[in-house]
Amino acid sequence: MENCIFCKIAERKIPANILFENEEMLVFRDVNPVAPEHFLFIPKRHIESMDIISGEDSSLIGRILKKLSEFANENGYNKKGYRIVNNMGEDGGQTVFHLHFHLLAGRQFSWPPG
Ligand code: AMP
Repeated sequence: MENCIFCKIAERKIPANILFENEEMLVFRDVNPVAPEHFLFIPKRHIESMDIISGEDSSLIGRILKKLSEFANENGYNKKGYRIVNNMGEDGGQTVFHLHFHLLAGRQFSWPPG
């Protein structure tokens, strides 16, 4: 997708601190972290948001969340816990319209979120 910053990261047209990649997903550090550990899990294929999920997308999302769980365990974030965030649309606070899941770890998070 033209002008999508995460598509450009997936295509290696702009740099990112990439931790994991396979044929369908990418994991990289958020450039503006809001926690000591802040990663983004994205499908390589452009999906705008959780608002538009096909049957095919749902199994891909399942695999992305499985990878997130494995990644968190490998790095020990499961010991104290972590937070998964998906922001959808304007009220949800979405700023990049390419589906992504935030993995936040390394501090205690409050509830409800702001
Ligand atoms: P959201 O507000 O949920 O759409 O999250 C978008 C996230 O993408 C924000 O946390 C940004 O800091 C992050 N972000 C934007 N541009 C980049 C980039 N080039 N590399 C890494 N993270 C980015």
